[in-house]
Amino acid sequence: MNLNPTRALAIAAGLVMPLAGETSHVVTPKDMARFWVKVAAPDSNGCWLWTGKVNRYGYGDFGLRKRLVKAHRFAYTVTRGPIPDGLVLDHLCRVRHCVNPAHLEAVTQRENTLRGDAPSARRARLTHCPQGHPYSKANTYVTSRNERKCRACHRIRQRAYKAVLRAKETTK
Ligand SMILES: [Zn+2]
Ligand SMILES: [Zn+2]
Repeated sequence: MNLNPTRALAIAAGLVMPLAGETSHVVTPKDMARFWVKVAAPDSNGCWLWTGKVNRYGYGDFGLRKRLVKAHRFAYTVTRGPIPDGLVLDHLCRVRHCVNPAHLEAVTQRENTLRGDAPSARRARLTHCPQGHPYSKANTYVTSRNERKCRACHRIRQRAYKAVLRAKETTK
């Protein structure tokens, strides 16, 4: 994924990062700078590895206001927006200290458990959309929230929508 730091900063402006103890913190440019210097350049799998502290479960820790937040949760929040209520972040790449937002997917706890550890299915989700179309350069676009979208699916949805409109026209 292409992360333009200026754009990420614009997305992050005014973003609130929830902290433990029911407090929260408005992300500042200084936080952003402190965070991204600790992220390594993409490795051969496209993972952006956290070079800062890693907790005993293998997740990166980032200090905010004398509290710790998970590095991948911070990366997701400041590039894609708040993690929806009730959802957890699943590492598609299975590398817990990877903070590449494109390798993270917000899913329900139940879905996360169901997915378990099947590596082939996970790899497939990194390279293909849920309908099985490849995330190739030509077939992929990135939304303003830095989400990868499949062009083939987009076309299918548009065609379906137009068909519905046409059907409405003819039944008038
Ligand atoms: Zn990764
Ligand atoms: Zn698709």
